[in-house]
Amino acid sequence: MSQILIVAKFGGSSVSNFDSMNRSIDIVLSNLNTRLVVLSASEGVTNLLISLSEGQEKAQRTYLLDKIRSIQYSIINCLKLPDIIRNEIDRILLNITMLSETATLATSDALTDELVSHGELMSTLLFVQIMLERQIKVKWFDVRKVMYTNDRFGHADPDLAKIKENSTVLLQPDIQEQIIVTQGFIGSEMKGRTTTLGRGGSDYTAALLGEALQATRVDIWTDVAGIYTTDPRIVPTAKRIEEITFEEAAEMATFGAKVLHPTTLLPAVRSGIPVFVGSSKDLTAGGTRVCNNTKNPPLFRSLTLRRKQTLVTLHSLNMLHARGFLAEVFNILAKYNICVDLITTSEISVALTLDNIGLTSTSDSLLTGNLLIELSSLCRVEIEKNLALIAIIGNNLSKACGIGKEVFSALQSFNLRMICYGASSYNICFLVPGNDAEKVVRVLHKNLFGS
Ligand code: ASP
Ligand code: MG
Repeated sequence: MSQILIVAKFGGSSVSNFDSMNRSIDIVLSNLNTRLVVLSASEGVTNLLISLSEGQEKAQRTYLLDKIRSIQYSIINCLKLPDIIRNEIDRILLNITMLSETATLATSDALTDELVSHGELMSTLLFVQIMLERQIKVKWFDVRKVMYTNDRFGHADPDLAKIKENSTVLLQPDIQEQIIVTQGFIGSEMKGRTTTLGRGGSDYTAALLGEALQATRVDIWTDVAGIYTTDPRIVPTAKRIEEITFEEAAEMATFGAKVLHPTTLLPAVRSGIPVFVGSSKDLTAGGTRVCNNTKNPPLFRSLTLRRKQTLVTLHSLNMLHARGFLAEVFNILAKYNICVDLITTSEISVALTLDNIGLTSTSDSLLTGNLLIELSSLCRVEIEKNLALIAIIGNNLSKACGIGKEVFSALQSFNLRMICYGASSYNICFLVPGNDAEKVVRVLHKNLFGS
């Protein structure tokens, strides 16, 4: 067998029902080098499990459990020999039932992780069963035997050295023999309790395993055929990007593009493993290759949009003694654990947006209470809500001439609230009123990408 190894990850929509699982299996079979398959839970299941982990009333528990059961049963019912796997799924459902009862007494992050892990356990069991019925040599593997993490439940950090060691012993030899199907998203801490890597963590699992096994490529199969010059729901003529660098893709993800989980890229960047993003709905539709270098990186690569931004402008109360003002502002923000996202400054004021990536709270709720009181004692605080952050992602943007005209001449009729340009050569960002956001993206896309 060749040394080439592809790790393929299929997201929730690619394993949502019998047909989509079969389509994903077709994709696995279409490339003999795909030896390790990482799956998310069937679409919707993780959300239902999280809801159960919050401790629900009995009626609601029954309702949620029925929904989970019906998603998984709709797959079982299409099998030729459903009995064995139905028993196994029933055992898991019973486990979920018991854990969700426990959750009504006391919730904890550890219990939540234990509960949600069942989504990936079920999807992988069903996927393997379909493969077996199709006479494919396959093995189900419990990823927790290799995916060691710390005990930060809900957002566990992987132990890279252990993962490498375990994968070499437990996965490497088997991969030569048959296709291995395993779970994304879940892991195991030192005491053997189940952890998760954070929502959407299956991409991360695939990249971590790809790194541990020195894979040739990681394929991320989702419901869109790659990365586009902007969100095709806003601009239907957006073009697919054939090849993009890790830096550009990470910028896009940071600034709101939904395709890739930003942390997915870390293990791949570290190891220089290219990532391919394609649609499991249409194998022939192609996709985007994300890699270390691309030929002729263009000046403008893409446009992203992030909504619900809050702009905080702080005006120093005392112009004459403004020295140290920024330091004081940042001290206060650090004290409240708040990361600043964008920032512009002038002599007596500073305008900033707050980074709410990865947080469940909105920037609105970050800005309440004591923080505001403390800031107000130092300066006059102005808050503008419902803005949208538009980022132009590209290459060498800070070195090019005439960019200002090229970008902003098309936007004369819009109110641009804050412009950040110069700090990064990969992006130019600005804020516009939320209601104008889509229009701005359309106008700008036409101007920069021709359609
Ligand atoms: N099933 C998990 C989630 O929905 C992990 C993933 O899909 O990547 O967050
Ligand atoms: Mg997902």
